[in-house]
Amino acid sequence: MMGWRAYAQEHRDRFLSDLVDFLRIPSVSALPEHACDVQRAARWIADRMTAAGIEGAKVMQTGGHPVVYGEWLHATGKPTVMLYGHFDTQPADPIELWTNPPFEPTIVGDRIYARGAVDPKGNMIIPILAVEAMLQGEGALPVNVKFFFEGQEEIGSPEIPEFVRQHKDLLACDFALSSDGGQYSETEGEILIARKGLCGVQIDVQGPKTDVHSGTSGGAVQNPIYALARVLSSMRSPNGKIAIEGFFDSVVPLTDDDRAAIAAVPFDDDEYKKQLGVDELFGEPGYTTLERAWARPTLDLNGVWGGFQGEGSKTVLPAKAGAKITCRLVPNQEPEEIMSLIEAHVAKFTPKGAKATVTRQPGTARPYSIPKNHPANRLAHAVLEEIYGKPPYYVRIGGTIAVTGILLDILGIYTVSFGFGLNDECFHAPDEFFRISSWDRGQLAYCRLFERLGERGLEG
Ligand SMILES: [Zn+2]
Repeated sequence: MMGWRAYAQEHRDRFLSDLVDFLRIPSVSALPEHACDVQRAARWIADRMTAAGIEGAKVMQTGGHPVVYGEWLHATGKPTVMLYGHFDTQPADPIELWTNPPFEPTIVGDRIYARGAVDPKGNMIIPILAVEAMLQGEGALPVNVKFFFEGQEEIGSPEIPEFVRQHKDLLACDFALSSDGGQYSETEGEILIARKGLCGVQIDVQGPKTDVHSGTSGGAVQNPIYALARVLSSMRSPNGKIAIEGFFDSVVPLTDDDRAAIAAVPFDDDEYKKQLGVDELFGEPGYTTLERAWARPTLDLNGVWGGFQGEGSKTVLPAKAGAKITCRLVPNQEPEEIMSLIEAHVAKFTPKGAKATVTRQPGTARPYSIPKNHPANRLAHAVLEEIYGKPPYYVRIGGTIAVTGILLDILGIYTVSFGFGLNDECFHAPDEFFRISSWDRGQLAYCRLFERLGERGLEG
């Protein structure tokens, strides 16, 4: 047999033209008119997996956008890895800002431009190609693999919890690798160890039943905008510390090791200030900027309204005012519990003469984290160190992806993020691209990870 390296090299052009074909399918999960394209992308993947030598490849329905499953389970006594990815993309709007049409992939030098190039298709196809190179180049894989690809990540994976619950045995494995991730830079690897959770509420404050004249009723009744401003300003001390009672009670404190790992990541406050156009950074005292952004919970006011907003003045005492709030959560904060604390806070701080109601917003997510020293992280660390010639950074992110929490809650498995995107590749934006060199590196990394895992097992 020729070996996986030679196989991947020899078939590189074909692999790349497969990626181009895949990118042509506008599998936009958010838009109903593309639902059949999402199905088409699923079919394309199942066929491509079968061609690679992966067994039992099939499209499975969920009630929403489908799932694609496939497996190769002949490495007796070896660990089983789930290879997770998603094949839906963001919408391409605004189309007029694209240099080339978003679903007509264009290669320029080391870059392939298309909607979904980096998020996620270029990344998602890597493990399929790596497995093909090993199966066709070596005759077998050194480990067992189960592929689990979903078509609804970009809309929050609504049907995935139920799907995973119904297919626990099919999906059982030792850990998952997610292709939906990034490198730190072209020459440095990273391992993502935490994602924040999310919850949100709307506060509506009611004063008099209609707007009233500020000359007639001003001074006689509560002004709901004042009342709301009081409630909102009571939520945070002037120094930036969130002041909701109990908000930090379940927060797992950062260890010295956590703080050292964050401090090891190159970050320049001045550069960041310049980038944002602010004179000062601001936030919870006692923490560095990255610690606050990555590892401390936040409460943000996203919008505030009330009263007259037009030109000139209007002598009105408005009937209503309102605000939207979202919180980014860290382990072990629970969205439901945090929303209850906010409700209690609002009830306690609403001034006399106004009525406040708190409405919980749908779309909560629990925070996710994987222990830095989890055996699967150590495995990824060893492979990335070998490939980049230096150890990876341990990073965290404020954003949320549903599946990692779902897999942990329902299957009891951790997910290691093992993707090769870079921050400048225009995720979710016009002229999205993926570096072809990163795509090559990704195939190498997956093959090396399978080899190392096969040789040493998960504890090696
Ligand atoms: Zn995305």
